[in-house]
Amino acid sequence: MMKYKHLFGPVASRRLGISLGIDLVPYKYCPLNCVYCEVQSTTHLQTERQRFFPTSEILSELDSFMQSEPHLDFITFSGAGEPTLNSSISEIISHVKTHYREYKLALLTNGVLLNNDEVLSEILPCDVILPSLDAASQDVYEKVNRPKAGLLVQDQIKGLTRLRKLYRGQIWLEVFIVPGITDTEAELKLLRSAIKQISPDLVQLNSLDRPGAEDWVEAASTERLKEIKRYMSQELTMPIEIIAKIKYQPGINALDEEIVHLIKGTISRRPSTAEDLSAMLDIHINEISKILRVLNREGKLRAERKARGVFYSWKA
Ligand code: SF4
Repeated sequence: MMKYKHLFGPVASRRLGISLGIDLVPYKYCPLNCVYCEVQSTTHLQTERQRFFPTSEILSELDSFMQSEPHLDFITFSGAGEPTLNSSISEIISHVKTHYREYKLALLTNGVLLNNDEVLSEILPCDVILPSLDAASQDVYEKVNRPKAGLLVQDQIKGLTRLRKLYRGQIWLEVFIVPGITDTEAELKLLRSAIKQISPDLVQLNSLDRPGAEDWVEAASTERLKEIKRYMSQELTMPIEIIAKIKYQPGINALDEEIVHLIKGTISRRPSTAEDLSAMLDIHINEISKILRVLNREGKLRAERKARGVFYSWKA
């Protein structure tokens, strides 16, 4: 996988099983700059869509990888930024749907552009759409998601509600809990009514797994997530899940073990950020992030925040 620029994985993903990632935007274009973002701060805060790369470049990587007919639960648009910013997404979706019909297609999105009808109609062929909504008041939205100036959380909620009306596939809504900010009673109440209005098939509660963009962001305890789930369930009828923490699963992808080995070799000698590791090892940032997350949870890493980001070293 190391030779690919736009593909990463297949990785064992917490929400999608074995998933091949397609990254459609360069590092790091996004209309939001979330305080918990695991790929660090947004450098290009924008809502304008662009082609970014020649579409053929992405499609030929995909065709080359798919020649081996890999076992995958999903082909997933995700990456270091927001996939719907890529204006050729519809061409890519239609390529996957034409040539790899037996595979399921998922889209991870922050949902900001779903308020745009063109974007909405382009993503309808996906099998599962996993949008995010972390806040329902403008004030908390700005604190947590730090949107581009002018973006309104109400528009995002409207876009998601419209998606539900037009889209026949599954919508799994992710709600990222930032303790003390998004989980006040007032905010949870607003969020619950927004989710009721959106009516996704599933709600997934998530929280921090490895240091995010800002060091004051803390993980919510499992107990707290369970309380939030109980609170949400009082009014919502769809299933609500706390995203299970999966363990690193060697064997799912033989390359993962190799990457763990490379990461260990590198950070035992010199503390590095996820971005350093990605550049040095020529491995997609998301793949590095996933592995760091698991290693961190297993207590194998020491993380230290410096001006340039979070530096990881290996605990002896
Ligand atoms: S978490 Fe997602 S939406 Fe938020 S800044 Fe990072 S890439 Fe953008």
